[in-house]
Amino acid sequence: MPAQLPMENKGRKNYRDALTSLQKVKSPWLPATLGDWAVGRDDYSLEQYLFVGPRGGGDYIRVGIFAGVHGDEAAGIFAAVRFLHELAQNPEIARGYEIYVYPLCNPSGFEDGTRHSRSGRDLNREFWLGSREPEVQLLERQIRTLRFDGIISLHADNESQGLYAFALGAQVTQYVVEPALLAAERVLPRNCDATIDNFTARNGLIRKGYPGMLCAAPEARPRPFEIVFETPHEADLEKQIEANLLFLRHALEQYLQLQAVGQDL
Ligand SMILES: [Zn+2]
Repeated sequence: MPAQLPMENKGRKNYRDALTSLQKVKSPWLPATLGDWAVGRDDYSLEQYLFVGPRGGGDYIRVGIFAGVHGDEAAGIFAAVRFLHELAQNPEIARGYEIYVYPLCNPSGFEDGTRHSRSGRDLNREFWLGSREPEVQLLERQIRTLRFDGIISLHADNESQGLYAFALGAQVTQYVVEPALLAAERVLPRNCDATIDNFTARNGLIRKGYPGMLCAAPEARPRPFEIVFETPHEADLEKQIEANLLFLRHALEQYLQLQAVGQDL
């Protein structure tokens, strides 16, 4: 059953509503609260959900999925929640994977409907720069400790008419992204502009990042595959969610295949 979307604008928005469907007594994923903090009179927490798939051929591949770093980009948040339900229904999607999902990385921004957190910071410009923001510090600690093989961030861009992605880190990243973009294109068009978000782009792919974005720890070697997937913010929300789900499924499938080929060589 797909996760329910929280009711909009019925009184004050509470970030916990977005995660309600994950709070099961006997859940197929492992929940963990990474930490909590207060902003004025409001309490916030950062939640992590771990889903361990059936064993694959080799060691588990550890992937982190991050959504809602920008509080007003709801599609990724709802998609991350739904993805966990999908995994529970069909664990085969996660064969060979340990999947850590962070559906709501900026809870105060989500409640306020803002890109920034309530402290006024763009959290996606704060990583690995000595940030004092609790969301960033908690996530940095996890990223550094867990040493992911892959990191996928879900975003939405209100200046783009189509899907695109940043592909960073490991050499294989672009081979993971292309089939995943192709799959997501079933529901929304790709942005094929030569310049996207002031970056040179090719077929909806940007091979660069920017300082402060959520990514692997600076010292991490080898670099994991790192992907930022962007949906067009103004598009139909359901379609954006579906595009995210298609992208995630195909990225995981593709990376697993690449690993299998690599081990045969
Ligand atoms: Zn964003």
